[in-house]
Amino acid sequence: MADHRYDVIIIGSGAAGLTAALNLADRLKVAVLAKGGISEGSTAYAQGGIAAVLEQGDTFESHIEDTMIAGGGLNDRRTVEFVVENAPKAIERLVDLGVPFTADHGSLHLTREGGHSHRRIVHVDDATGWAVQQALEKAAAAHPNITLVPDMAAIDLVNGRHLHHYSGDGRIRGVYALHRPSGKVALFTARATILATGGAGRVYQFSTAPRGASGDGIAMAWRAGCRVSNMEFNQFHPTCLYNLEVKNFLITEAMRGEGGLLKLPPGVPNGGHRFMPDFDPRAELAPRDVVARAIDHEIKRLGLDYVHLDISHKPAAFIEQHFPTILARLLTLGIDIRTDPIPVVPAMHYTCGGVVIDLDGRTDLPGLYAAGEVTQSGLHGANRLASNSLLECFVFGEAAAKHILASWDDLPDPGEVREWDESRVTDSDEDVVVQHNWREIRRFMWDYVGIVRTTKRLERALHRATLLAQEVQDYYGNYRITSDLIELRNLVEVAGLIVRSAMNRHESRGLHYTLDFPDTLPEAKDTILVP
Ligand SMILES: Cc1cc2nc3c(=O)[nH]c(=O)nc-3n(C[C@H](O)[C@H](O)[C@H](O)COP(=O)(O)OP(=O)(O)OC[C@H]3O[C@@H](n4cnc5c(N)ncnc54)[C@H](O)[C@@H]3O)c2cc1C
Repeated sequence: MADHRYDVIIIGSGAAGLTAALNLADRLKVAVLAKGGISEGSTAYAQGGIAAVLEQGDTFESHIEDTMIAGGGLNDRRTVEFVVENAPKAIERLVDLGVPFTADHGSLHLTREGGHSHRRIVHVDDATGWAVQQALEKAAAAHPNITLVPDMAAIDLVNGRHLHHYSGDGRIRGVYALHRPSGKVALFTARATILATGGAGRVYQFSTAPRGASGDGIAMAWRAGCRVSNMEFNQFHPTCLYNLEVKNFLITEAMRGEGGLLKLPPGVPNGGHRFMPDFDPRAELAPRDVVARAIDHEIKRLGLDYVHLDISHKPAAFIEQHFPTILARLLTLGIDIRTDPIPVVPAMHYTCGGVVIDLDGRTDLPGLYAAGEVTQSGLHGANRLASNSLLECFVFGEAAAKHILASWDDLPDPGEVREWDESRVTDSDEDVVVQHNWREIRRFMWDYVGIVRTTKRLERALHRATLLAQEVQDYYGNYRITSDLIELRNLVEVAGLIVRSAMNRHESRGLHYTLDFPDTLPEAKDTILVP
């Protein structure tokens, strides 16, 4: 097995990974690994935009306050300041890279989203993530020092235990990864490794995240010895299209920002009623957790499948101009948003917790950095403010790169690493078990660890997660590794981390709401799991 040796290995080719790569590549040789295609992470799916203080009258202090309010006071103020203050520069760099942000009379057009007290969301119509991903990818592909490696699914981080001459120093030296087309395991070594693997949305049955969001980076870092924090805070996007064929189509927050109203569907008592003002004075512009809980409440109270999101009272030209992608997509499903309401349900959308990092993107382990949704940087606290997450990717992708460049001379060579143990050559004849287990995890997480929790439900979930973890470990130890098995092993790990974090929090705060502890404790504390 060849050792693919680079200066830096980046696992993940979304906003965080590619930003880090572009910031490193003028001096260092970088490999960027992606589990599937290079554009298949969540970044390409982002519709709404990126938050930054750019409007006259808006201030850093206001963006910081909005972020802290959404985060239920659990945010790390230093991190929030760091990210917010670096936001305008991050946007400038994206403009320089050629991202075609929507303009308004010569300056960037800004929308407003739930929880923001100003218009501060830059966007590319309603397909911002796709445009950002394309621009980053184009620049990375053109750089001679960046090697993009698609279809390479990281299995586990390499540390001193994997050296020919054992070392217990905990330093990370790269990664073992499955080349999916050939089924062979490759070794990538480097002086520094950056995890940019995104979130764990797929741990829940209904999710807006793409299939690859199985929490691989969180699980790998945990197994290698990193602390993981605040995993109980899973953001459910209030408005995912309800359609039994198309399960993951998100209806952007901006639709509520631009006047979309949430109503009860016809055929129920008070059908057509706009219900958000009954729950919060900010109505449709309340933070996501408030809106998601209100929808969940109405759906459960009335036994509904969905509620309606209606923008049809706005002029057709306005809708065509602001929401061209959603309009076109829903037309193919027989819904004309210029005249019809959209059936919506809440769905798991964003992983606020993750691998603990500092302001330089450093994890607990030497040689290992992390950036983006895989991390718990302190930015989001108990709830993410809309459009702060792409921003976090740009700011921490750059911060990690800068730290690696600054400390390059102190980073040791990775050493001679042992080959992957290829003794597990038996192909499983029970692939269906992997599929069943995957579905079971997503189902019990939805049923027991969803928007409203109780201790009893969490205990049930923990019991199932523990049993499944044993089964999956047995499977992992005995059969040839596959991409599905890698994801299943990580999903069950992450499900366990979420449940244990939720059980450790004896209060309701931000996205964690439990009927057994409905109050918020006076002191805000992170939930930190130590391996
Ligand atoms: C539908 C949707 C809409 C959103 N809208 C917005 C928005 O408007 N504004 C906003 O700020 N945020 C939004 N978000 C959130 C935001 O898109 C994500 O938080 C952000 O893109 C995460 O970027 P990332 O670089 O951390 O990870 P991703 O973009 O998810 O990339 C992860 C990368 O890691 C790779 N990877 C994962 N596991 C492995 C492995 N085992 N081996 C190798 N590679 C691996 C994947 O292949 C991928 O390349 C949205 C999210 C979704 C799902």
